[in-house]
Amino acid sequence: MTARAEGAASGPEAPVPALVLEGVTKRYGSARGVEAADLSIRAGELVTLIGPSGCGKSTTLRLVAGLERPDAGTLSVAGSVVADARSFVNPERRRVGLVFQDHALFPHLTVARNVEFGLDRLSRGERRSRVGELLDLVQLAHLAERYPHELSGGEQQRVALARALAPRPAVVLLDEPFSSLDESLRAQVRRDTVATLRDTGTTGVLVTHDQTEALSVGTRVVVMNNGVIEQADAPEVVFERPASRFVASFMGDADFLPAHVHRALLTCEIGIVSTVPGWADSDVDVDVVLRPHEVALRPAPDAPARVSSVEYHGAFVLHHVRLASGRTLRSWQPHDVRYPVGTAVAVTVAAGTSPTLLVGDRAVTSPPADSLKLGSSAPREAGFPDDTVPTEVPR
Ligand code: ADP
Ligand code: MG
Repeated sequence: MTARAEGAASGPEAPVPALVLEGVTKRYGSARGVEAADLSIRAGELVTLIGPSGCGKSTTLRLVAGLERPDAGTLSVAGSVVADARSFVNPERRRVGLVFQDHALFPHLTVARNVEFGLDRLSRGERRSRVGELLDLVQLAHLAERYPHELSGGEQQRVALARALAPRPAVVLLDEPFSSLDESLRAQVRRDTVATLRDTGTTGVLVTHDQTEALSVGTRVVVMNNGVIEQADAPEVVFERPASRFVASFMGDADFLPAHVHRALLTCEIGIVSTVPGWADSDVDVDVVLRPHEVALRPAPDAPARVSSVEYHGAFVLHHVRLASGRTLRSWQPHDVRYPVGTAVAVTVAAGTSPTLLVGDRAVTSPPADSLKLGSSAPREAGFPDDTVPTEVPR
């Protein structure tokens, strides 16, 4: 096995990542499992992995755990290669812990015996004390002699976590661990699990299909689609700076309007949206991403837009608005605001919004190279004379 973290980019002092995927690919016949996944997870991170059903989340975890062999690429755990074209380390030797949705406890073993299961390399005394530590950690010491069927779903989940943590794995993988728990239990078990992982400094990868869970639990959120990692960033970045059309619409509500950037001014059907610093020489069509909290409404009898439906969500009221073009936008209004269906409304963008821009399906932060049509040598197009370009968005 080769130690990593010796590359030019990482000095000798750089900490070794807990988990690295480089070009990891797994296909099932002609079907995509995971395609050329690159990901590096620092020790102590708790990463959430989210995407639609069938996008490759479980396959990714199974590859890391050693339950599948990659067709290509390299997988390293705590600085050791565990799978590449030449080598394959068996699951029990990978220092990877697993927690599944259905807990998968051994039904014929007590809680203590379940937790002890992966500790066969320790002496009897060491095993006993490690099991004691783990049961204290998950607050189940009083249930040590029970069998799994004598436990609640939440307790079974804690046993599964204790069992996964007992051998001191470098990474714990959790595959939708809360989805078999009922709603009332889920929040508590999630809090307990996350607290245990944080308190023990455990590196974790948690698969979820719940956007709120992905954003609130993860130090980083990895978004997958059709076998491909579309984005791996801090929760705020994934939500506020989605890398693609898919991420924008999958993580939270998003509407898309055709828009145009001309001399750093972003306009679309609802008017001026914002200025786009750095796009002074651009004249380019884009799509603008607008989220319901960014869209402001004001009743205006002469406006062409109409409220088309209203949904009460408790804390806020979601208004669907049909624009003159027939496209719709959604707008969150405070819980006590409700414009009746049919109300004519002026639609604007909330102050301070600097929305994501898409060219094709990719987000762009700088003008595409072929959009620089307004440079000094380029022919002038009709538009704002230079001295009338606003530098602030009119509010
Ligand atoms: P997720 O966990 O994101 O819902 P999976 O990783 O389980 O998705 O599956 C990704 C894709 O690989 C799906 O299209 C699925 O049908 C396919 N797949 C997964 N496991 C197998 C398998 N053992 N044989 C064939 N296809 C599989
Ligand atoms: Mg799955």
